[in-house]
Amino acid sequence: MAKVLIIGAGGVSGVVVHKCAQLPEVFSEIVLASRTESKCKAIAAQLNRPIKTAQVDADNVPELVALINAEKPDLVINVALPYQDLTIMDACLETGVDYLDTANYEPLDTAKFEYSWQWAYQDKFKNAGLTALLGSGFDPGVTNVYTAYLKKHYFDEIHYLDIIDCNAGDHGLPFATNFNPEINIREVTANGRYWENGQWVETPPLSVNQVFDFPAEIGPKKIYMMYHEELESLVKHFPDIKRARFWMTFSDNYLKHLEVLGNVGMTGIEPVMFEGREIVPLQFLKALLPDPASLGPLTKGKTCIGCFAQGVKDGKPVAMFVYNVCDHQECYREVKSQAISYTTGVPAMIGAKMILEGKWKKPGVWNMEQYDPDPFMDDLNKYGLPWQVVEVDPRAING
Ligand code: NDP
Repeated sequence: MAKVLIIGAGGVSGVVVHKCAQLPEVFSEIVLASRTESKCKAIAAQLNRPIKTAQVDADNVPELVALINAEKPDLVINVALPYQDLTIMDACLETGVDYLDTANYEPLDTAKFEYSWQWAYQDKFKNAGLTALLGSGFDPGVTNVYTAYLKKHYFDEIHYLDIIDCNAGDHGLPFATNFNPEINIREVTANGRYWENGQWVETPPLSVNQVFDFPAEIGPKKIYMMYHEELESLVKHFPDIKRARFWMTFSDNYLKHLEVLGNVGMTGIEPVMFEGREIVPLQFLKALLPDPASLGPLTKGKTCIGCFAQGVKDGKPVAMFVYNVCDHQECYREVKSQAISYTTGVPAMIGAKMILEGKWKKPGVWNMEQYDPDPFMDDLNKYGLPWQVVEVDPRAING
């Protein structure tokens, strides 16, 4: 029996709130707060149990502290934007409350994906006796837990890790992003980066691709290499990894739009002057694009996200693929959201449950792979993201 404060009321938040509300034995009280309270109320109206809503500016530490002190939650679940991670962590420290998020901190003015800012809070959380769980979404999140699970049960050493994220869904719109467009486009237009033999290798954005044959009825799809934040913590915590890469599918149509938008400067994050005021092109573009939360009823098809690992067990070579397949329409039927928000929101709920049940709770700042993966993997099967682990031909992915 615990009280949670959920901050942010976008696509992911909607799923977290639904999933927490389905488990009153764990989440006995839920407070949902965001910049725009009407969005919290709209989510609350979809539930069949009452929750409290509030307005908060999560960039403002005193406002957060006042809200946390008034509500006295056991845990704050941060599903606002990565820009708010540090202010919410500061407020948790000041009020003595555990913390969870789904994406690493990013400064507004540079698309820099790294854990350095949040890892720097390690001693503060440790000294305060508080737990901070970082990146409890799907990728990062489940992909970290998958890697820890493979290592624990199938490998003595993982040498090559490929994280593969496929969205084979279709929303029928000319161009839309599946989650916050600003965060999504910053990530996709950044340089690719992968880990090889103890160092990072940079590649121009989306310049490396290959075809991967996905399970279920998804079949072969082109996957593009890009940087993704879980690579940083995974190569740190599993030093046996010689090469770690992240891949994502994009349709030709998505890439065509992105190229044109990039060429005309619409994906820029540097402010430009427009009619006497500064605007950030990417923020303006976000205002024009469909709200990801509105894609729920439109999106059909499946997602498949998994970890393809190669290494050794008892001196013999092993290659395994662990993955989840999720159906956009089934997610919508359950929680009124498409699979991208669903696959992020369910692990956020499970991470919160791990902390509140004391299974994943120790003072400090932790990435997901630093805890025992087994209870989390059990809960993925129970709460909507069942997984499979299969032995694979290592040639299924190019070296
Ligand atoms: P949305 O843009 O849909 O929602 C963000 C919410 O945060 C909005 O309700 C927004 O308020 C609110 N917010 C923004 N700034 C503030 C602020 N200063 N104070 C209070 N509330 C604020 O994003 P998503 O739901 O798609 O994503 C949520 C998080 O999940 C992001 O951090 C994203 O990076 C992460 N994510 C992680 C994934 C993973 O697998 N690990 C995958 C997908 C997303 P308003 O409505 O007023 O704008």
